[in-house]
Amino acid sequence: MYDVIIVGGGVIGNSIAFHLSKRHYHVLVIEKDTIGQKASGAAAGMLGAQNEVGADSPLSSLARQSRAMFPPLAEELKSLSGIDIELIHSGIIRLARTEEEAKQLKQAADRQQNSGEDAEWLSREQLKEKEPNLSADSMAGALYMPYDGQVNARLLTKALAHSAVKLGADILEHTEVQDFLTENNRITGVRTTTGTILANSVVTAGGAWSRDLLKKTDLALDVYPVKGECFSVYHDEHLMTSSIFSPGCYVVPKSGGRFIIGATQKPDSLDDSVRLDGLHSLIKRAIGLISELRNAKWEKAWTGHRPQTKNGLPYMGEHPDINGLWVAAGHFRNGILLAPITGSLMADYIEGKPVNDTFRLQQLSHKEVNL
Ligand SMILES: Cc1cc2nc3c(=O)[nH]c(=O)nc-3n(C[C@H](O)[C@H](O)[C@H](O)COP(=O)(O)OP(=O)(O)OC[C@H]3O[C@@H](n4cnc5c(N)ncnc54)[C@H](O)[C@@H]3O)c2cc1C
Repeated sequence: MYDVIIVGGGVIGNSIAFHLSKRHYHVLVIEKDTIGQKASGAAAGMLGAQNEVGADSPLSSLARQSRAMFPPLAEELKSLSGIDIELIHSGIIRLARTEEEAKQLKQAADRQQNSGEDAEWLSREQLKEKEPNLSADSMAGALYMPYDGQVNARLLTKALAHSAVKLGADILEHTEVQDFLTENNRITGVRTTTGTILANSVVTAGGAWSRDLLKKTDLALDVYPVKGECFSVYHDEHLMTSSIFSPGCYVVPKSGGRFIIGATQKPDSLDDSVRLDGLHSLIKRAIGLISELRNAKWEKAWTGHRPQTKNGLPYMGEHPDINGLWVAAGHFRNGILLAPITGSLMADYIEGKPVNDTFRLQQLSHKEVNL
């Protein structure tokens, strides 16, 4: 008998497991594949609190708090698991290709500065100086966000899982949760491909697959997959310092001369093949941004499925009809960034602690999730 079963061994499930284990809950993570093989293993690892989330978005406070949790978390995970999550604070540069985009990004810089963020508008000349390998002549300038760092997403997921285990959690891989067990509208456990397992609480953190599982409880959660393709290359030279973000293509410099280039977006697709048209457009755009990338050495390509919701906000809350059944899903393009705060917030919910009202994004209800 567990205190909490978590369905899904992605970054969200493992972050919740880690936070609950720190609070002495006996936790089991159940994963149908292996830990971190789905969206969490596919992510580029950018912590785009400013780049991805506007200062006026309901996600803003959550995103900025989560980004601030990374430095101490990286230390904690290193000492518990021995894994370095490769946290790098080298900022994100968002390019403006036209005067219209430049105007919008200058306004975004003003809004971010007014809300206390460090954000700097770079003219074409300043951009050239900052990133000399960038084809800046075709740009109208850029927004530089120095505190939007990055991590290795695969290692973050692994480090959270190993640390949770070190603190007493169990992990069951290659096991699919098929249904929930309930008694008088209260969760009692789950039915899996290898038998039933009992628990006081259950959290569905199944990423893009959460909708299918929750259908069994008559909850039509509007989480749907958005397929993304990425690839990675190596280059002997130091081509850039910051991550470069442009509509339709980003380039993220990793350790050891590796670069991740992404990502396509195909809604409602759970296909996991890599298609040449997607790769072709990414390669073309990436070389258009940094021409020296044409001499990079190929490593590999992959896909992942981002869990998106209709209004773009993740679900974090309790099932409207079943006490003790929780949901943490729908983090779309920002699950790596939001993993620390999601883990801590879900642990607060399950513990019954009062939760900061600015974090109540959307409550789960049949009314709001009419598929
Ligand atoms: C190409 C790409 C690039 C990205 N880049 C970034 C980025 O730079 N920064 C960022 O913050 N985010 C990024 N993201 C988004 C981020 O990866 C996701 O938001 C995050 O990984 C979601 O985590 P998750 O744990 O909810 O989902 P997942 O990682 O998909 O994990 C869900 C897990 O649940 C398991 N599961 C589902 N159903 C069941 C069941 N019934 N029984 C047992 N197990 C089950 C699945 O097998 C899966 O392992 C990117 C995503 C993609 C695809």
